[in-house]
Amino acid sequence: MTILVTGGAGYIGSHTVVELLQAGHTPIIADDLSNARADVIDRIETITGQRPVFYQTDCKDAAALRRIFSSHPIDAVIHFAAFKAVGESVKLPLKYYRNNLDTALTLLEVMEEFGCKNFVFSSSATVYGPNNPYPYREEMKAIESSSPYGWTKVMIERILTDYCTAKPDFSAVLLRYFNPIGAHESGLLGDEPNGIPNNLMPYIGRVAAGQLEKLTVFGGDYDTPDGTCQRDYLHVVDLAVGHLKALQYCAAHKGAEAFNLGTGSGVSVLELVNAFQSANGIDLPYTVGPRREGDLPAFWADASKAKTLLGWEAVHTVEDMCRSSWNFAKNAR
Ligand code: UDP
Repeated sequence: MTILVTGGAGYIGSHTVVELLQAGHTPIIADDLSNARADVIDRIETITGQRPVFYQTDCKDAAALRRIFSSHPIDAVIHFAAFKAVGESVKLPLKYYRNNLDTALTLLEVMEEFGCKNFVFSSSATVYGPNNPYPYREEMKAIESSSPYGWTKVMIERILTDYCTAKPDFSAVLLRYFNPIGAHESGLLGDEPNGIPNNLMPYIGRVAAGQLEKLTVFGGDYDTPDGTCQRDYLHVVDLAVGHLKALQYCAAHKGAEAFNLGTGSGVSVLELVNAFQSANGIDLPYTVGPRREGDLPAFWADASKAKTLLGWEAVHTVEDMCRSSWNFAKNAR
């Protein structure tokens, strides 16, 4: 299949492009490089021996999208391109709503013009909001979030669901990611946020590399086994493979369908810190500090729907995630 991958130079997008190429698909990357580097395309070529077509494009630009659809027989879109910093979205909500909603709407409009009917959406476990019990299941009411970033995911899921109702021959797969970490085994692709990282694993990587002094564990007094928050961390390569399975499902079905992509178990912050230390033989300086506002104590996926309907399950261990994260971070630029 020929697949337009928006945000294909980003963290999850680049790993997905590698899997697509290795499975014989033709990914076309559209990325404005606002949070990715151009040499990711070279790195994808080094890994796969194939250079994906790349357009430096803002996906809010309908004319630019039309040029891409006119030049390639696009069968499906995997839509990653979005702003994703939760904290920034609280401070700059208009920036997030404008960008994330406009991008999705523009894409859908151009897809309609060109008769493209398969859409895989990069959603998030944040759509389950603060009030659902975990493990989260897809049929739970998922119409809430705790940040403007998360609300854009809720809203785009709604837009896609309504669009599928109006267009019965359209297919949308909503992939609700849990906490992707890890990196490609080559050490060439990984999570490389601009500035000081907000997410746990990139922060750990910078501390391990000596670029930041120590990790602050946000809260040690939660009602969890060791007092620190629990999350469902999954390897980014497993997540990338999930997109291939989702594409197959998307092409064979109609309507909107949501899937959790997670491992189905929770790991605490301290467990992850300890796993990182023992997987890599590194001492990681940390202190336990106050809670971070907005953090939920614990959540993880019920991953059974993806296993049953997509034939997908996460296969990498926490040790794999920690080892590959460090293999990338120690060489990071
Ligand atoms: N966390 C932490 N210190 C950090 C960054 C994150 O203790 O410097 C914790 C955070 O409180 C949460 C977990 O690590 O419990 C995962 O946070 P992240 O931001 O990576 O993902 P989230 O689940 O919040 O989207």
